[in-house]
Amino acid sequence: LLYYDRSLWPTLTTALSPVEPLETGGVPVVLGALNYDILADSPTEIGTHQVRTFQAYGARHEVALVSPVPLDIEWLSEQCKTIVATEAAMFGGVPYDRYVFFVYAGSNLTGGLEHARCSVNMCDVRALTSPTKAKSLLALLCHEYFHVWNVKRIRPREYGPFDYTREVHSPMLWLAEGVTSYYDDLFAYRAGFYTAEEYLQILARDHFGKLLHVPGRRAMSVRESSYLAWVKLYAQSPDGQNRFPSYYLKGGVLALLLDLAILHATDGARRLDDVMRMLWETYQRRPYQGVDEEEVFEAIEEVSTRAVREQFMRWLDSTEEPDIARSLEPFGIEWIVRDAGAQSPLEPASRWLGMQLRSDGGRLVVTSVEEGSPAWQAGIAVDDEIIALADRRVVTPEEFELLSSRVQWPAAVTAACDGILYTATVEASSADEFELRAVALPTERQRTLRERWLERSLLPSLP
Ligand SMILES: [Zn+2]
Repeated sequence: LLYYDRSLWPTLTTALSPVEPLETGGVPVVLGALNYDILADSPTEIGTHQVRTFQAYGARHEVALVSPVPLDIEWLSEQCKTIVATEAAMFGGVPYDRYVFFVYAGSNLTGGLEHARCSVNMCDVRALTSPTKAKSLLALLCHEYFHVWNVKRIRPREYGPFDYTREVHSPMLWLAEGVTSYYDDLFAYRAGFYTAEEYLQILARDHFGKLLHVPGRRAMSVRESSYLAWVKLYAQSPDGQNRFPSYYLKGGVLALLLDLAILHATDGARRLDDVMRMLWETYQRRPYQGVDEEEVFEAIEEVSTRAVREQFMRWLDSTEEPDIARSLEPFGIEWIVRDAGAQSPLEPASRWLGMQLRSDGGRLVVTSVEEGSPAWQAGIAVDDEIIALADRRVVTPEEFELLSSRVQWPAAVTAACDGILYTATVEASSADEFELRAVALPTERQRTLRERWLERSLLPSLP
């Protein structure tokens, strides 16, 4: 029961079912939940936000936009419709009668959270000021919405029934978050938010390229990183990237490589979608039990081959580096790593030091240092304050970046550690650039496999 002034806050949005129509306007508002888990899993927004609704697959969908400035909810609602059509097509329908996309736009907001019948998605207000800027929000919406199937229903066995009194450990976050991280950009591509070229660029830069700058991938397997989530990823330290790989990032890359391996082994007849559908059938047969890893591996083997299953298990369980170029070769796609060149005569090539900086009340502070990088070798550490580069004062990350592409290297970095000034000589290297490029003259088989992988069938209209 909710008691509040409905004349002040006329709009209520929740995935819980109202016991009587909200339009009756009475107080208290009575909402229904069959058990505590459903109640705890159902955020409720009360206020003056904008709402649009649409029907699809026999279910009511709501889009609730909470923003300090008026933004275009009609456009956002259309994109949500496309996301529902794209993802539900993979499973042949939706497993709920109501679903809410909550979108919170604010200054520098980011991140999201999945629920069984809704998702909370946060973005910067600027994300909704142009379709180009909206792309990462759309991929986030795809990500949280895919959790409707993967994790809210197809879930690691240890995640249910919920135990709210203690941490629950699972080695399977590579499935819950890794596979979902692969599918978020893939669905954004299938939904038409990216072109094929943009999608390949995103995979090269934000998936493969990003992972190659995580030294922690050599220190811990992705299964172990998942199992230790409560003391590693949830308790981030500035040195985290050097100690373990994120199961989102590495799990997503391994899911992509698994999809490619299945397509390759089956001549394009099957793919990761088929594994997910098989797990979905298992869920529907016994919704309360969850799946264990062995069942997922069996599904992979059934869809493809024993060799694909064994290779994937090795990737999950070790720090073995997958051969990206070799995985993409059957698809006629080249994996290219090169030194970033000059952008234009006025924009020299950017240089790489391997440290992240942030402005902190007029001070320029080091927030992370990549193991083995030029900054690491020069002895620069997290929390040090950077004062000058090549005897020029720098106070913002942008100034440092600008100057670093224009000074002579090696250069002197003046910094302070715990109040003691020091000067380190740093030899910056060229920044890496990553690219996935379709070869100009693919073989017949390469062309077929590539088309199958990047298939984007015409969107089904919403039933
Ligand atoms: Zn997620």
